[in-house]
Formats: sequence, structure tokens, C-alpha cells
Amino acid sequence: MTGISIDSDDMYADTLREECGVFGVYGHPDATELTALGLHALQHRGQEAVGIVSFDGNNFSSERRLGLVGDHFSKASVIERLKGSSAMGHVRYSTTGDTLLRNVQPLYADLDSGGFAVCHNGNLTNALTLRDRLIEDGAICQSTSDTEVILHLVARSQKRKFIDRFIDALRQIEGAYSLVAMTNKKLIGARDPLGIRPLVLGRLDGSYILASETCALDIIGATFEREIDHGEIVVITDDGIESLKPFPALPARPCIFEYIYFSRPDSIVGGRSVYSTRKSMGAMLARESGIDADVIVPVPDSGVPAAIGYAETVGIPFELGIIRNHYVGRTFIEPSQQIRQLGVKLKHNVNSGVIRGKRVVLVDDSIVRGTTSVKIVQMIREAGAHEVHMRIACPPITHPDYYGIDTPVKDNLLAATHDIDAMREFIGCDSLDFLSIDGLYQAMGHQGRDATAPQYTDHCFTGDYPTPLTDVQGKHRATHLSLLAETG
Ligand code: AMP
Repeated sequence: MTGISIDSDDMYADTLREECGVFGVYGHPDATELTALGLHALQHRGQEAVGIVSFDGNNFSSERRLGLVGDHFSKASVIERLKGSSAMGHVRYSTTGDTLLRNVQPLYADLDSGGFAVCHNGNLTNALTLRDRLIEDGAICQSTSDTEVILHLVARSQKRKFIDRFIDALRQIEGAYSLVAMTNKKLIGARDPLGIRPLVLGRLDGSYILASETCALDIIGATFEREIDHGEIVVITDDGIESLKPFPALPARPCIFEYIYFSRPDSIVGGRSVYSTRKSMGAMLARESGIDADVIVPVPDSGVPAAIGYAETVGIPFELGIIRNHYVGRTFIEPSQQIRQLGVKLKHNVNSGVIRGKRVVLVDDSIVRGTTSVKIVQMIREAGAHEVHMRIACPPITHPDYYGIDTPVKDNLLAATHDIDAMREFIGCDSLDFLSIDGLYQAMGHQGRDATAPQYTDHCFTGDYPTPLTDVQGKHRATHLSLLAETG
């Protein structure tokens, strides 16, 4: 779900772009508590806002708050207000801008067919274009979120049955979406035709659970049933679960960045352990660009699994040469570049004993703007390292994202404006190397990247966008780019 910036209107000045987490339960007496726990396990996907909607057979209840799940949904008073045996919720990640409560999900509307709540992980790439059409048609938008477009499309569909109206809406949207939706009779899960963002199905005490990642099933003791397939819609009712595949079949192309950075290492995504995959990326990186050194140091926490794989492969000791303070958020949450740099300092400190006088290989999962790398290299040098070499367990990020992983505009991506040597100089390390794109695919168990039918969504590294980018390429280009620039 992304925020939409609309020209010259302060109401729309907040420019949110998010990676999010979604969760839903159907038919369990503790539906709201389970949802709060599931969202807590998905907190890494969004730390800015959280919301839960429940349904008790008669009424929908909703609580939407700014902040962390535990700040609000650990209180009995809040949980008690959310009655019912069905519930769904959302955690949202935003990088900047005023955070407006009206953008916090799940979004809810009373349709002629009854209540409808929806929450969304991913970004739509034609939301501004659709929104123009809807507003021309008389729609009154309440939020600046692209997810609201889905709500309006469902409301305006001429189909009779609810599920046909929902499908009608999905046929009109482009981009990435993993949705959880709820009506007075159904819990619905839907994944876009390429399956860009993840969504899994679990079971607990006979009830069905939907979640962005398996770690959210683990926390409530639910069993993993299966992934929602790309282009699949599952409809959960008192009669059980029904699977629909209303879209033309396309080969799946899940986002490779889920494996590199976003998903939690203890999750299983696409049948692969995220942790082991990250270790394999580190091992492949070592094979491609191993260097003689005294110590392998991860940039915590994101670089840890890759650094373990790297160290195992080269046979050099792995040490925690940087210690992370866990009580500050991810670097990207800070809105301005100045604060972001401070954020890096707040977050990390050098464990000098393992660094002094050593030739250090620093391993991180990715470089986006380069902010983290510059600060970390400087810290390591100040701690008396003899040499500092950086190894990055993914290829250079040269292209912006429009599907919800929140990489900035091209000009702010270090690798889009610098070649490797210029990056090395900017970062101030003695050598710098990245995992190759084929090495990345090999770490994922493939021979390499299939250029004619790429197995993953990997536009960040290749510029190969797997869906139309209607807003960016059409008349909304300027709006879209200014939105990205403000958040860059
Ligand atoms: P930067 O400091 O801008 O180069 O960002 C790189 C750091 O941010 C790495 O340590 C990554 O673990 C982390 N990172 C990578 N991609 C993202 C993202 N889309 N959102 C938040 N953090 C990210």
C-alpha cells in the first residue's frame, strides 16, 4: 500500500511509500489476540502504524493507531473492543511525511452488500490513473492511499455477487498486491498475478489464517498449510475454503528482495528458508570475490546470515565487530538524510577488540543510498582496522522500486550514479564488491537468471519491471517522481 501524492493540495502532502505486513483469522474465538500476535511477528515489515478490524457476526469494530503493535494491542481494553471470531490487521512502514491516521489500514467501508475491510501489502502502479477516473465519476476519497482505489472499484462494480465485484476490481489494478479482505461472511486472501509480494495460508484449531510470512504463523502455533499461489484468490467462509484463479495464468515472479532483505530470516518464502538463502548468497559472494583478511564482520542485523556463509566459505573467523542497539528503528524510517545519518550512529557501535590492527571484511546485504556503509567504514577505521573491505550480498541497486520495497528515486541510489570504483571511493573502503546477478540466482538454487523468463522480480538490479508502470509512464509521471523525490 502506498500513499498517493496529489498536486497542490496540502491534504495530500504526506507522501507515504510502504512495505507492509498483513494478517487475518477466520472463525477463532481469540481472533483479535491472534491477529495482534501475528502483526507483532510481522513488525519488521512496518513500524509506523498498525490497525485491526474484527467482525462479531453483527458488527465490525476497528482500531487504527500510529506506532508499534505492542504499544497498543497488548492492552486488554483495546483487545476487548475488537469483538468477534474473525479479525484482520496490518502493519505499515513509511519513510517520511506526516503520518495521517486516515491512511492507516485496514480500510473499511459500508457497501450496499454490507461491511468491507481491506488491507494491502505492495504498491499499485496505476492507482493515480484509476483515482482520476474515479474522482471524475464522483468518488470522494477519504485517504491518500492507493488501497482506497480497490475499495472504490469494489463499491462501483456492477456485478451482483460480492466476490465477482472483488474480482472485477482486481482486474483493473496493476502492480503488486497481497491483500487480506473481510466481509460479514468471508475472509479473502488475494495475491497479484505474478505473486510479487508474499502471502501464506495457515491453520490453527481448525481455523484458517492468512499472513505475509510464516513467522507470523509460528508465533501463534499455527501450522503452515501452503502459499497463496500467484494470481490466486482464496475465499474462507463457514463452509471452508475455496480457491479461485480468475486471471490469465502467468509465470510467477516473486520479489527477490524479500530473500535479500525484507522477510524475517526464520520465515520460509517460496519453499526456501530465508536464512539459508542468505547464507548461500554470502557463500556465493565469497566464491566470486573472496579476499584474504583476518576477520569477517557482518553489518548487523541484515548482513549476519550472508557473513556467516561468507566466513564459512573462505575459512576466516566470523566476529561480531559491530554491535547493534535494538531499541532504535530501521535507518530508513528517519525522514531526512541528516537524521538518517545520525540514525546509523545511534544504531551501531564498534566492538574495537576484534577490529584493531585487523584486515576486516565487512558484509552487508545491500547498499541503497550508501549512508550505512559510509558510517560503518568510518567507525571501523577509527577503531584501528588495518584494511576495510566491503562485500555486498546482492548486485548493485541501480533502479527504483514501484512495488513496495521502498528504494528511493534513481538519483539517490548510489549504484545508479556511481560505478563500483566511485562507490568504493565514496564509501571510503579499500575494496568493494557485489554479488553478481547470476550468483544471486545460483544462491537461490537456479543455474542463473533466465534472461527470457526471469524467475523473480528483480528490477532493482536489472531495470526489468514485470508490470506496466502506468502512473510513472503516463501523465502522472511528475507527481509520481516528486512523491519519490520527497521521500528520497
Ligand atoms: P543505505 O544506508 O541507504 O545504503 O541502506 C542500506 C542498508 O539499509 C542496508 O544495511 C540494508 O540492510 C538496509 N536496506 C536495504 N534495503 C532497504 C529498504 N528497502 N528499506 C529499509 N532498509 C533497507
